[in-house]
Amino acid sequence: MATKSKLIGGAFLLKDTDVADVFIPEEFTDEQRLISETVKDFMIKEVWGLGIARVAGLDAEKDKDLVMDIFKKASALGFCGVSVDEKYGGGGLDFNTSLLFTENLALGFSFATTIGCQTSIGSLPIVWYGTEEQKAKYLPGIASGEKGCSYCLTEPDSGSDANSAKSRAVLNKEGTHYVLNGQKMWITNGGFAEVFTVFAKIENDEKLSAFIVEKSFGGIQTGKEEKKMGIKASSTVPVYFTNCMIPKENLLGERGKGFNMALNILNSGRIKIAAGGVGGMKYGLEKTIEYTTNRIQFEKPISDFGAMKQKLGTIAANLFAIESGVYRVGANVDRKHDELLKAGSSPNDAKINSMREYAIECAILKVQGSEAMCNTGDEAIQMFGGMGYSMETGVEMAYRDARITKIYEGTNEINRMLSLGEFYKRAFVTKEINIKDAAKSVPSAIAQNYNPFGGGYLSTEFEFVNNLKSLFMIITGAAGNKLKEKLVDEQEIVMNLADILAMAFISESAFLRVKKLGQTQGVDKATLDIKTKLAQLYLYDALDVARKAANNAIDSYAKGAEKWILKRLVGKMLRTYNINPKDVRREVADYMIKKKGYHFN
Ligand SMILES: Cc1cc2nc3c(=O)[nH]c(=O)nc-3n(C[C@H](O)[C@H](O)[C@H](O)COP(=O)(O)OP(=O)(O)OC[C@H]3O[C@@H](n4cnc5c(N)ncnc54)[C@H](O)[C@@H]3O)c2cc1C
Repeated sequence: MATKSKLIGGAFLLKDTDVADVFIPEEFTDEQRLISETVKDFMIKEVWGLGIARVAGLDAEKDKDLVMDIFKKASALGFCGVSVDEKYGGGGLDFNTSLLFTENLALGFSFATTIGCQTSIGSLPIVWYGTEEQKAKYLPGIASGEKGCSYCLTEPDSGSDANSAKSRAVLNKEGTHYVLNGQKMWITNGGFAEVFTVFAKIENDEKLSAFIVEKSFGGIQTGKEEKKMGIKASSTVPVYFTNCMIPKENLLGERGKGFNMALNILNSGRIKIAAGGVGGMKYGLEKTIEYTTNRIQFEKPISDFGAMKQKLGTIAANLFAIESGVYRVGANVDRKHDELLKAGSSPNDAKINSMREYAIECAILKVQGSEAMCNTGDEAIQMFGGMGYSMETGVEMAYRDARITKIYEGTNEINRMLSLGEFYKRAFVTKEINIKDAAKSVPSAIAQNYNPFGGGYLSTEFEFVNNLKSLFMIITGAAGNKLKEKLVDEQEIVMNLADILAMAFISESAFLRVKKLGQTQGVDKATLDIKTKLAQLYLYDALDVARKAANNAIDSYAKGAEKWILKRLVGKMLRTYNINPKDVRREVADYMIKKKGYHFN
């Protein structure tokens, strides 16, 4: 008899996770760390080596040769092939290692987007959905970097509403080619790509299909580089297709399945944004510590001031928690992949479905990772003062570059809705999540007596994590019962619920990491203590976010007795967390300052 899989996306809500089943970043092998160091060294030498002011002033159009030169050097080290199987000339990295790779890419600023696109949305459609022939034809050139690649979904009139795209492909009379007409917009790497994955509707289809399109087919024109707020060295162009003749065999995957394909590819892109955010926050913390420990005001380094420590401590806590979530999910994707292969899935299906399984977590991490990274950029400018506003230090560039992550790969509003929508599907359609029982548990939750001092190592913290999960289920269940299908139109409530869900998942990830470390032989006690404090700080702030979101949601839909009961429940379940945030933030900041960044023993 087949055993039930433990690897279920969204299941974190239903049950306690055994620490033995959780991967933590401390478990990366020497080989994985070497990959990470190689990428970091490359970025420092080839990108920072240009001088930070020069990097801040790079322009995709004017500096195309320089950008292409760095791209070639990166290709020679195998960077372009990390997601491509070895059989086709790639490095065939597992997913979690590809996240670690992406984390370190972030040190290359706009250049991270160039390589990120090549290894993610640009090539994955072929890696995941291609036939053997398509892979053999296209992947070696993509992996070697000889052929740049891009992903063409967005159009002038279809952004978030991607399936409303107007690009159309019609089979020619001879039945040999699709004739493609249409316009795509905001296409990363479009200025130099040779291979385009294009999403378009075939004839009068309602749903998109996907095609592999070569520049050499003709009928393709790229427009001028967009003038953007950030990632200025990354190529972003409109692409026009006029009677572009695509051989019939270049249809990618099944006809009419393009929209699902596009979304599945974005699941991977979303968690990679969070991984890049982890790299960006590590960089931000290191640079702000370097600056604030050297900048003297009122006869002291400004890092001595509590107002600065408050910012440093908050950045470090967000970084620790998001890092915990990213690599927890990355490892689960890999395990799910292996499990599916063992159960007989094809290699393509194993890749697609393992990623699809964790759609809720990927959407959560995209939103929280991008927002934490943007806040880090903003606070870094603040800590640099006037120098943060100058192009000389590179801080303003980091701030500008980070901002796009809240917009692409699905805006953060769309991703908040998606995390909830996916949860609803699993609760009400596939019934993998039993929300009815959670909603029934309101009276018993209210009656429970909480012990504010807890009953053992991290017991208070895990109780809060469980309360966040239960509260999410209770309010979502209650709001769903009341509003039924109208809930999707009450987007403000959906945004609130998505935030409670996110706080539950990320806080849990941080404490599972600390708990596992606590059970690991030979862990340095001082380091463990700081990591515990980082998780505690994150939870302290997460409870504030969840309290506000829960009260907002309840005040927005509930009335009378229901409102009274639910608000009382919020007060009880998310009561005051008894730590001193000022002291903990200072202690964490002092540790980071001593180590000159997010560096642990
Ligand atoms: C630098 C850059 C690089 C990019 N690279 C690529 C690429 O390589 N390939 C590609 O295909 N695309 C790419 N994009 C496009 C990107 O994915 C889109 O910009 C993004 O999906 C948002 O679409 P939009 O810009 O049309 O905004 P819109 O969809 O018009 O959204 C505008 C605002 O309305 C909100 N909104 C929209 N719909 C809803 C709704 N139903 N409910 C509530 N709020 C809603 C959004 O959240 C947002 O706040 C890139 C964009 C940029 C800026």
